Amino acid sequence: MDLGIAGRVALVTAASKGLGRASAVAMAQEGAKVVICARGAEALADAEAELSALTEVLAVPDDVTEPEAPARLVQAAVLRFGRLDIVVANAGGPPPGRALEVSDEVLEAAVQANLLTSIRLVREAVPHFRERGWGRVCLITSVTVRQPSPVLAASNTARTGLWAWAKTAADDLFDEGVTVNLACPGIHDTDRVRQLGHAAGRMGDPADFGKVVAFLCSEPAGFVSGVALGVDGASVAGLL
Ligand code: NAP
Repeated sequence: MDLGIAGRVALVTAASKGLGRASAVAMAQEGAKVVICARGAEALADAEAELSALTEVLAVPDDVTEPEAPARLVQAAVLRFGRLDIVVANAGGPPPGRALEVSDEVLEAAVQANLLTSIRLVREAVPHFRERGWGRVCLITSVTVRQPSPVLAASNTARTGLWAWAKTAADDLFDEGVTVNLACPGIHDTDRVRQLGHAAGRMGDPADFGKVVAFLCSEPAGFVSGVALGVDGASVAGLL
């Protein structure tokens, strides 16, 4: 299947490792040019080297959760490649904590990183999508938007808010050729999961997750919008 994104420009944030990196690689394999960011220089250089063997790449050291970072990143993408077609919004996950233990500070940081940052990225990208009447947004969230984890209260709270925002944005933007979807990973074999001690049992391959993201950002997925697509190995018990 031709995903129809060769030559398109994709910004993938928090992409030096894990699911973000795998998403950038999957789109690079389809011929998209990619812009990636992360805070740590070493892993970012490593990701840049992998991607530059596949496509044209711009790697920007930046903390995507800083309020001005989304504007900086979108500007950097447009300055380098002259256009922006795809945004995959990703950021690090909040620390664990149960609902009644989580502090205001942790909740506010989660809202900043996992809700407001994604909204800012879309807001900055949409004017560039409008120039061509085409755009794709994929928000990397979590299986917890469907089945909140008892130990990830901050994550549950910020990400369900993002889903609600994305649903309304998807309807607002659909007639302009722009789709907005969530990719909701269950447990995948990444550094974060190993650090949280969840690396056991049923685990997804980040490379496969990246290909699901690439599909959501593809030409043939143009009628798929407002969807929160679970990539979770049937781990959600409910029907939604
Ligand atoms: P990971 O392997 O730890 O990779 C995180 C990546 O994001 C790294 O490249 C990291 O680089 C970058 N990053 C983190 N904070 C950043 C920031 N503020 N600004 C820029 N870059 C930043 O994590 P992952 O497992 O891929 O998880 C990605 C997201 O999916 C997280 O929100 C996580 O909660 C969610 N998720 C993951 C799973 C899973 O099973 N893996 C399941 C559900 C949800 P630097 O640290 O150098 O910046």
